[in-house]
Amino acid sequence: MHLIVLPGDGIGPEITAATVGVLEAVSERFGLGLRLEHDIAGHESLSRHGTTVRPELLERVRAADGLVLGPMSTFEYTDESKGGINPSMFFRKNLDLFANIRPARTYPGVTHHAVSAFDLVVVRENTEGFYADRNMESGGSEMLVTPDVCVSLRRITRPCCERIARAAFRLAMTRRKRVTAVHKANVLKIGDGMFLEECRKVAAEFPEVALDEIIIDAMCAHVVRAPARFDVVVTTNMFGDILSDLTAELSGSIGLGGSVNAGARHAMAQAAHGSAPDIAGQDRANPLSLILSAAQLLDWHADRLGSRAFGEASRAIEAAVADAVAAGESTADVGGRLGTAATGERIAARLRALP
Ligand code: ATP
Ligand code: MG
Repeated sequence: MHLIVLPGDGIGPEITAATVGVLEAVSERFGLGLRLEHDIAGHESLSRHGTTVRPELLERVRAADGLVLGPMSTFEYTDESKGGINPSMFFRKNLDLFANIRPARTYPGVTHHAVSAFDLVVVRENTEGFYADRNMESGGSEMLVTPDVCVSLRRITRPCCERIARAAFRLAMTRRKRVTAVHKANVLKIGDGMFLEECRKVAAEFPEVALDEIIIDAMCAHVVRAPARFDVVVTTNMFGDILSDLTAELSGSIGLGGSVNAGARHAMAQAAHGSAPDIAGQDRANPLSLILSAAQLLDWHADRLGSRAFGEASRAIEAAVADAVAAGESTADVGGRLGTAATGERIAARLRALP
């Protein structure tokens, strides 16, 4: 597997270095033959090349199997004419990474905000909804029709609903076989109505999987009150964006929030949080978010190739993370006593020591 590694901004270089150490250890231990190619995007690229993402970088990424993307200070990248492309959006769109898979679970030994232990995955549609069209004059899916009136457009299409529903049901088959479709079809009758129709159609192909439907506002209450009842949660772009931050924080820390952005041919590991400039360069950031994202990336590859070794390597990383946090070998945000680099090194050491 050939991966491009882009460290990003803020805490990005620190958590990416820790993740690379873990990937090298797991590759060695499981004989994966991972090939990691380092490049740059974000601030460093902007100051060196005048753009956050060089066009030839896309070609290099296309030629690879996947990408490890460190967090980017996207808030600052607003002017595309000045090279300020949002790298995350750029890769999601250009590689058609339509499924944003964001697991959230509690860990023994980590204090969490949830009423009970839970283990769920938010499957968020990643290519349309309110965040769809970056080609409008305003640079987004919004336009100012008078100085005092803005119109925001939300695009929902049947094929995109169908493929995200399918990704959710396929995932549910490997888990507890329950999908919850989260929507607002009582108000957004046409768009979310279409989303629900497609979920129901796909559900008919998976008779073993139960489908529930919940309105987004009620979902926020339910997931706080009884998170353990959810397994796979599928939803449209913006609802998934918000809901997955809620579930990550419920699980203990945003620093545990991993994700993979998956398409048909490419996938991108990406922490669910931002570049955390407030703690950058202090060896305090939790690298587990990106380490868990990398594990998801290996699992995506395992699924695509039917490779046992990649699947085992992915589960070994997850187990090493769970053991490390239970032993206090993690950063302070999850109750541990180590810095970023040492946290990564301990996970890598656990993997190397596997029998
Ligand atoms: P950005 O503009 O890049 O999104 P931000 O200022 O919104 O940056 P986030 O990264 O979204 O910052 O983080 C929100 C809060 O969570 C910050 O206080 C940050 O320190 C904390 N945080 C984020 N990621 C981690 C992490 N991996 N480990 C520890 N704390 C984190
Ligand atoms: Mg942020």
